[in-house]
Amino acid sequence: PAGSRIDFAAELNPQQHEAVTAPPGPALVIAGAGSGKTRTLTFRVAYLLENGVLPQNILLLTFTNKAAREMLDRVANLLPNDISGLWGGTFHSVGNRLLRRHPEAAGFAPGFSIMDREDQQDMLDSVIVSAGIDPKDKRFPKGEVLADVFSFAINTGRSIDDVLVEKYPHFLEFNDKIALAQKKYEEKKRAANSLDFDDLLEKTLLMLQKEPAIAERYQRQFQFVLVDEYQDTNRIQADFIDILAKLQRNVMVVGDDAQSIYSWRGANFKNILDFPKRYPGAKVYKIETNYRSAPDILDVANAAIAGNVHQFKKELVAARPAASMKPALVPLGDSNQQALFVAQRILDLREEGIELDEIAVLYRAHFHSMEVQMELTRHGIPFSITSGLRFFEQAHIKDVAAFLKFVVNPRDEVAFKRMVRLLPGIGARSAEQLWNSVSDALSRGGEVNFHQLFSPLKVPAKAARMWEQLAHTLDEIAPGGKPHPPAEMIRSVIEAVYDDYLKAKFPNYEQRREDLTTLGNFSKQYESAADFLDQLALLTSLDSEVTATNEDAEMLTLSSVHQAKGLEWKVVFVIWMADGMFPSNRSLESDEAIEEERRLFYVAVTRAKDELYLTYPNLRLNAGYGEMLQRPSRFLGEVPKELLEEWQVGGASW
Ligand code: ATP
Ligand code: MG
Repeated sequence: PAGSRIDFAAELNPQQHEAVTAPPGPALVIAGAGSGKTRTLTFRVAYLLENGVLPQNILLLTFTNKAAREMLDRVANLLPNDISGLWGGTFHSVGNRLLRRHPEAAGFAPGFSIMDREDQQDMLDSVIVSAGIDPKDKRFPKGEVLADVFSFAINTGRSIDDVLVEKYPHFLEFNDKIALAQKKYEEKKRAANSLDFDDLLEKTLLMLQKEPAIAERYQRQFQFVLVDEYQDTNRIQADFIDILAKLQRNVMVVGDDAQSIYSWRGANFKNILDFPKRYPGAKVYKIETNYRSAPDILDVANAAIAGNVHQFKKELVAARPAASMKPALVPLGDSNQQALFVAQRILDLREEGIELDEIAVLYRAHFHSMEVQMELTRHGIPFSITSGLRFFEQAHIKDVAAFLKFVVNPRDEVAFKRMVRLLPGIGARSAEQLWNSVSDALSRGGEVNFHQLFSPLKVPAKAARMWEQLAHTLDEIAPGGKPHPPAEMIRSVIEAVYDDYLKAKFPNYEQRREDLTTLGNFSKQYESAADFLDQLALLTSLDSEVTATNEDAEMLTLSSVHQAKGLEWKVVFVIWMADGMFPSNRSLESDEAIEEERRLFYVAVTRAKDELYLTYPNLRLNAGYGEMLQRPSRFLGEVPKELLEEWQVGGASW
């Protein structure tokens, strides 16, 4: 447009430009890895704003909250506008935001808690009992399995029976009890005013379907809906987009069917292929240039994905000149040597002037990274790790958070039990009894006073002193049930109650104490405890992206391939390229599963800009079983030999 401050034509290729400046209406950008889909979406936001669309009228859905933040930072750099009103984030965070505005319409009270996977399992374990199931009966599925069954059913829009048939045929005989457990679970969540992660989407969607007036308000507000990584949406997410975009139909989705890697969470790549059917008249844009990877790397990627039958054929052409190095195939003796190779190569790269944050080590499963982690530590190479136990999921962090959760939502049964079980002499049974009394007292209403609430209750003698102290602390941090700012609460809880426990319970007290300080510092940006807890909960989601505490330091990235989606590095190592590891053992039986693994391999390869190392050990050291021979990944065999350069490292080829 005239007077534009951004030179769109210079920043984008003609295909990207066409998508960025598309007229209103449904649009699909389907293109391979590294072709600038995310960039296109970012510039689309800028373009809309430049053309007078208000930030609050745009909804941007991304796979992680961090991705949304980065895109919006980019837009903020391009434009002088204040864009803080723009709605951007994951499906879950947007769902949560809508529910916080209309909790009653969804059948919850304001201040509801969000349960993570562990909380959910705790609750399910007690549900099992109330559904008349003997928890000691080994034939019956545990809370963990139930959580999985319920989640899969919700995310795919299927019945419990269907899910059992497909995923857990051996539990089919218990289908009635499982259905009853689900009913009890729903009741219990309402009583505890608590939602699990799936509820953030499901309950929001139900609310929008049931309350047309509320739905219409947001359908009017969101004039433009934009979605990144659309290939990984599942049924319920697709429905969520549809209902929000229903009125105006200005929905632009971008994705790559060849990178659909979340079917185990109910994602369905047919969503992206069917988009033009669901939105008749949708414009389809394709981009065939890859800006990320050197041509040799792209050749490997193209060859890798060619093995898949079920995909939209697209051949990527490199925009970049050739790099100095061919992608490397590195066989190694065993996994220790593999780890050593990675560490030494990284030291060399650093000598060559490549910074650590330009390097990533990727793997199929988290446990594959153990030896590498040890070797890096030995060499003093700092790394951040984006899978496994995350900062906010650690026991001591969740312990402290439980105090805050309870004062914000005193109906939160899981938080209450977690909190009181920290006291000496209080186990699961006493916690249950205490909860019964507390929830009775709470149901009588009135202003919350923790001292009044706690003092009439009988606790084991060992706990008596701390019980007093606990009630006193709770009243101090939330007088009359009104919580203080989170940073203050965290400090008081640690000083008055938790520190003693921490010292007694954990050997690495110092480290954990430091973590809690980090938590306190992190919480300072929040005035309201409820906002802070929301943030914590969303960070701990499956979409989690928060890693180590020190985000600014120069660090190497260790990541599962799943969590590396959408990201890029100059140098990428993909380790454990061995059959049964990548592709994983569990996938070997079905063609569909192998295709998904192949897409995963494609995602891994296409993260690399300049250098790619594919490594595998010939031997696997197996605790208790001695050594096992390991075959190279079948995916390596599908890449023509001449595309890779085989490295010989320390007599490993034998
Ligand atoms: P993925 O499929 O992995 O999510 P993508 O299609 O979203 O990839 P982007 O991450 O947007 O691709 O872009 C890949 C890289 O190419 C980025 O570094 C981006 O800045 C660069 N790039 C994309 N388009 C252009 C362009 N027209 N000119 C210069 N660089 C570009
Ligand atoms: Mg992208």
